[in-house]
Amino acid sequence: MNNKFFAETLIRWYTHQHRDLPWRQTQNPYPIWLSEIILQQTRVVQGLPYYERFLEAYPTVTDLANAPEQDVLRLWQGLGYYSRARNLHQTAKHVAYQLNGVFPASHKELLKLKGIGPYTAAAIASFAFDERVAVVDGNVYRVLARIFGIDLDIASTEGQKKFAQLASELISETSPALYNQAIMEFGAVHCTPTSPDCLLCPFQGVCEANLTGRVAQLPVKLKKTKVRVRYFHYFILTKDGQLAMNLRTERDIWQQLYDFYLVETEHPDATLDSLPLPSFLQKAIYQSVVSQPSEKITHILTHQRIQVRFWQVALPSDFYSELPPSLQFFSQEEIDELPKPVLVSTYWKAMFFK
Ligand code: SF4
Repeated sequence: MNNKFFAETLIRWYTHQHRDLPWRQTQNPYPIWLSEIILQQTRVVQGLPYYERFLEAYPTVTDLANAPEQDVLRLWQGLGYYSRARNLHQTAKHVAYQLNGVFPASHKELLKLKGIGPYTAAAIASFAFDERVAVVDGNVYRVLARIFGIDLDIASTEGQKKFAQLASELISETSPALYNQAIMEFGAVHCTPTSPDCLLCPFQGVCEANLTGRVAQLPVKLKKTKVRVRYFHYFILTKDGQLAMNLRTERDIWQQLYDFYLVETEHPDATLDSLPLPSFLQKAIYQSVVSQPSEKITHILTHQRIQVRFWQVALPSDFYSELPPSLQFFSQEEIDELPKPVLVSTYWKAMFFK
């Protein structure tokens, strides 16, 4: 298939079929960057309110840079991958303070920013600065694999090289931004993973996958994500109407977010007696009313499956023990403002607002 035909067909499809999304109405790199980072972990429908809230709270990159990290994490709450929010904040500081609030205007320079990989750099460089550099994301892999009948594993080095090369050759000479938008949108809404609309497709007659009955087999992705199973026992310590929250400082999921006091075990079913409890918690349990453990809840993250039980420990007013430095008592209003993983936030709300 002729490259020009491919690009023109895509752009024609996009002109008539695309969704009207706010970050497509601008060439300002700040909202474009914001939207790309948010959309890395969520679908458009879910990401849109986050995008709007961020822009409302921080209309410029300098506003975002000046915000306390806790506020940024709080606003990000529910999107997961909190390291991306921290990178977002650090990059905003770098752009605001080191680059005078001006984003680098080329793919090469954008790649030097924290949290910006080849895909995001290509999106910003093309959408904001019209640079002719092709985006290659999951949507693009799928569209190219199907239309050109490429059966290389998209996770292999060979596959990635092939797709990147093909994408660079195909991108429109004259409208790179429009082309990139078009191919991503086509993959997102038309040539979708499980229900591509082949009957009404402009590539129907030339698409290799369609012509050879391999739509469901392409793209090929051999590497399976390894899922780690973890067992969490959360202790919810309350005293005089306040609740102890733990700031997570280790290099782990939910870094810099608040959860309850956590005891993690290697095995699923642990009783209170068999849990490895620190001495302050043993003392707390000994002096308090402790609830039965909650039902087991399974919380699923991309690479982890967490099985959680909650234990409520109502401490007497005169309880005193030295607490771990990361653990601190907060009022309900204060907890509302803390950044928390969705799992914790949901349980906390159910506990206090039922
Ligand atoms: S014909 Fe089907 S598989 Fe091929 S590009 Fe169109 S929607 Fe995708």
